[in-house]
This record gives sequence, structure tokens and C-alpha cells, in this order.
Amino acid sequence: MRGLVVKSTGSWYKVLPCADDTLFPEGAGQEAFQAALTDCRLRGKYRMAGNKQTNPIAVGDRVHYAMESDGTGLISEVEDRKNYIVRRATKLSKQTHVIAANIDCLCVVATLAFPTTSLGFIDRLLVTAEAYHIPAVLLFNKCDLYNDEMQQWQAELSRIYEAAGYRCLAVSALRGDNVDAVRTLVQGKTVLFSGHSGVGKSALLNALDPALGLRVGAVSDWSLKGKHTTTYAQLYPFAGGFLIDTPGIKEFGMVDFKEEELSHFFPEMREHLHGCYFANCTHTHEPHCAVKEAVNNGIISEERYGSYLNILATVEEERHNR
Ligand code: GDP
Ligand code: ZN
Repeated sequence: MRGLVVKSTGSWYKVLPCADDTLFPEGAGQEAFQAALTDCRLRGKYRMAGNKQTNPIAVGDRVHYAMESDGTGLISEVEDRKNYIVRRATKLSKQTHVIAANIDCLCVVATLAFPTTSLGFIDRLLVTAEAYHIPAVLLFNKCDLYNDEMQQWQAELSRIYEAAGYRCLAVSALRGDNVDAVRTLVQGKTVLFSGHSGVGKSALLNALDPALGLRVGAVSDWSLKGKHTTTYAQLYPFAGGFLIDTPGIKEFGMVDFKEEELSHFFPEMREHLHGCYFANCTHTHEPHCAVKEAVNNGIISEERYGSYLNILATVEEERHNR
């Protein structure tokens, strides 16, 4: 049988049977969802080749399993992941813990109202999403509070990020603006929401799927608290797909990469890289740099290039500290 891992507690996994990629029907409810799950274990001898990870199976993995006589399942195979996010087992450790696999979409929730999201924050999240091969969209929430000036800034930001290849939407969880458009975007997908505390993630999730019943305006960062007490990531049925809840994990770990690789994680820079004279161009001081030329010609935005330089500086700093 084939299934989707929705929860892991170390040695046991909760698996939702799914022969094809049909997901859990929308509106079926939490109880029906829980009732559909099979408790599975991993076959004792199972090892992943070249395993640098502390956990062989993560939520979002698609697995193959056989039913045992006691009604539990025995997992024999984990399908290849299209992507996954990790955190380090400990700060200095080379071992990583896979938080979740097979993520279809990262929704970056930002706002130009309070608490204003910085472009640096957005760009760092986007770089991380690129490095993990996770498609990302930008949601500018609380647009009901935007004055003329903020609306102009929002339009300008949308232009910048759409040019970089990211879908942008001005939304209001409160007033309902574009909530349907977001629902269409996430429908049937496994989605991770990220953004600072207070930007309106809970409110937006509730607007998308009232069955979640999240507490809005809570002091702590968003997670489906109260519904469970574990610190493990879980998948919840959500808007015809799944919502990844990562309690206690505020940011996902940056991927290790070299300075000259950073521009690969800026989609609008990627297409110019072949034009740089040096193959390992960092697009800072080098002559005949196609990226800088594109910035000068207004093809690549100054804001994004500025973020690129900032992130590059932190990558360099981390290398020196290592
Ligand atoms: P979270 O920490 O990201 O989950 O943010 P919450 O969903 O808890 O919302 C934080 C505060 O922002 C609450 O007081 C919400 O009522 C408010 N809020 C959320 N979305 C909107 C919105 O679209 N418009 C307005 N005006 N307020 C919002
Ligand atoms: Zn260059």
C-alpha cells in the first residue's frame, strides 16, 4: 500500500493511505481524518543510503507499506523526495533533522502595516525556499489598513517580486480581499506558511479554512497549539490539501552554500549568470558582470540586488566564523 506520512513520533508514523495523489477530501473533518490514519513502523533493517539525517522518514514523505496482522503497517520503502527542509540536530552537528518533505508551496505572509515586514526578511525566506526547491508566493496581509502611500509601495513591491518570478497578492484576512485567490493557489497542496508573529497568519489560515479555529492575536508565534503538545511537525488537512505545522521552529535553517552560489537563488539573476566574465563571479567587484549590468539597466531591481549584497555579507561572515 502507499501512504502519506502526516505525523511522526520517533519510531511510529501516522500514515494516510493514498493510492494516487488524491488528497484528503475538503470538509471531511478532523475526526474522519484521524480515523483514516494507519499506525506504521519502519522495517528494522531499513537504512537510507548515505544517511546524514537523524530521521529516515519525515512528514510529507510518501511511503510503501504492508499491513500486519495486528492492524499496523510495516514501511518498506520511502519514495524519492522532490524537496525537504531541515534543521541541524545541534548547532555544530553535521547531522540534520528533516522537518518536512514534499512541500508544494511556501506562503510568505508579510505586511506593510504593523508589524512591518522588512524586505531583507522576505528575501532571506525566498533564498531559503529557492535553495530547498520550494515554490514560494508572497501575501501582503492587512491591505485594509493601507493608505495611499502604502498602496503605492505595495504595487511597487508586487512589480519587483513578480518580475523576479513570485506571485504576489494583497490580501486582508479581516475584510476578505483575495482570500479566494489564495485558496485557489493553495488548494490541494501541501503548504507551509511563514512570517513574523503578528502579521496575521492565524487570521489568514482561519479565513482560508474556518475549521482550523486558530486563536488570533495570541502572543506566541503561530502553530496549531492547543491541538497537540508535541514539538514534531505535522500535516493537517487544510483547504483540500495539507498545512504543515512546525511548532517551536521559528525559521527553517539556511542551506550551506558558497558565495558564488547565492545568485542562483535569485531567479531573476539566474538568467544573466552566463553573461558574467568570471564563472565564479559574486557580482560585486568583478569586471564584465552581467548581473550588475542588469541592475544598472533597471532589469534587476536595486532592492533585490541590495538584499543580495546583504545576504552575501552574512554568508561570508559565517564562513569566517566556522
Ligand atoms: P500571527 O501571529 O501571524 O498568527 O497573527 P494573528 O493572526 O494572530 O494576527 C495578529 C493581529 O493582526 C490580530 O490582532 C489580528 O486581528 C490582526 N489582523 C490579522 N489579519 C488582519 C487583517 O487582514 N487586517 C487587519 N486590520 N488586522 C488583521
Ligand atoms: Zn557577475
